[in-house]
Amino acid sequence: MLAVVPPARPRKLAKVPFVELADGRLQGVVSSGSDIERVYVSSVAAGTHAYHCSTNNNRPCGGLRGAPCKHLEALAEEAVLQYGVDRVARYLRVDAGDGVGSGSDLLARMDTRHEPTPAAVVFSRFLRHLAYLELPDSTTALPELHWFPATGAAR
Ligand SMILES: [Zn+2]
Repeated sequence: MLAVVPPARPRKLAKVPFVELADGRLQGVVSSGSDIERVYVSSVAAGTHAYHCSTNNNRPCGGLRGAPCKHLEALAEEAVLQYGVDRVARYLRVDAGDGVGSGSDLLARMDTRHEPTPAAVVFSRFLRHLAYLELPDSTTALPELHWFPATGAAR
């Protein structure tokens, strides 16, 4: 069972519907800025700071050009909102120090390198996360589901 932790600060769920610190990585799902149907699976490994970004069909992200793409930056920003900068820095083993307040700051402190990792595991965790949110007796609006127009779950 995945725990749903209330975010430290409100998050932009439409942009990054899923973010977690799990499996030794900061990982999550980032929606495409241009195509509503497309999502990217982005991750950064704790310790090694190896990063990857691809579509959920394992097509490499076109934004990876020797540096983390905008999806990874969005993911890091949202992780900081969700967990707080200290917790994210600790988990990824980043020497945050003073003056680090955002996800971009954290990424800038990492000695990142690109290393492909399969998107399927993260994406299936995201789908399970959605299924978990879709509780039958829930009457509250679930912003995560509104993001996913293709499923019709928000209707
Ligand atoms: Zn990307």
